[in-house]
Amino acid sequence: MNELARFDRFSVGLTGGIGSGKSTVADLFAAQGAAVVDTDLIAHQLTAVGGPAIAPIKQAFGASVILPSGAMNRAAMRERVFVDPDAKKQLEAILHPLIRSTTQQAAEQAQGDYLLFVIPLLVESGFWKQRLARVLTVDCSEEVQIRRVMQRNMLTEQQVRAIMATQATRTARLEAADDVISNESDTTALLPQVLRLHELYVSMAKAK
Ligand code: ADP
Repeated sequence: MNELARFDRFSVGLTGGIGSGKSTVADLFAAQGAAVVDTDLIAHQLTAVGGPAIAPIKQAFGASVILPSGAMNRAAMRERVFVDPDAKKQLEAILHPLIRSTTQQAAEQAQGDYLLFVIPLLVESGFWKQRLARVLTVDCSEEVQIRRVMQRNMLTEQQVRAIMATQATRTARLEAADDVISNESDTTALLPQVLRLHELYVSMAKAK
């Protein structure tokens, strides 16, 4: 990707803390006709069996972070980078350029009224914001976040809190937002919010 380029089409970045409901909300936008590009999914695919990040990761960290299947051992890698900031930087140096180029390719091919990028660490990275016309934050309280992630990932409260501590604060994500979707209650509350914003984004994409 040209390091200074914005995406050609009207582009929204969707962010939110772990368990806030990004994937759930992105699916609703996709159903309305947005072209969704999920950078989290891309990161997973890069480190799955046969993924292009596997060879450089094995070279940098050794075979102990690769599963017998050939995929990255996410748990082992998570532990490693948690205690070693240099390892974290090294992993990011491998992954980030690959995520960016794969995201760019996916964006060029994506069909839809406008581009909606799911970017968990949008606020933290600083890279994406300048390339997006609009930032949409999915928001919920920390209590709800913890409950959902404990259930989804079979983690303890302490483990979820440890992950949350590595992410931006709720306040920082709200400050970075042009638009906010509240996902505090049940999922039926999401659709009206999605419909309103989808309409706004379609009209902004047309005006671009
Ligand atoms: P994220 O992508 O931000 O990590 P998800 O969309 O995967 O969040 O949501 C986290 C978990 O909580 C998932 O298991 C999802 O099905 C569930 N979830 C999301 N929103 C709601 C909601 N409003 N009510 C109940 N469960 C929800």
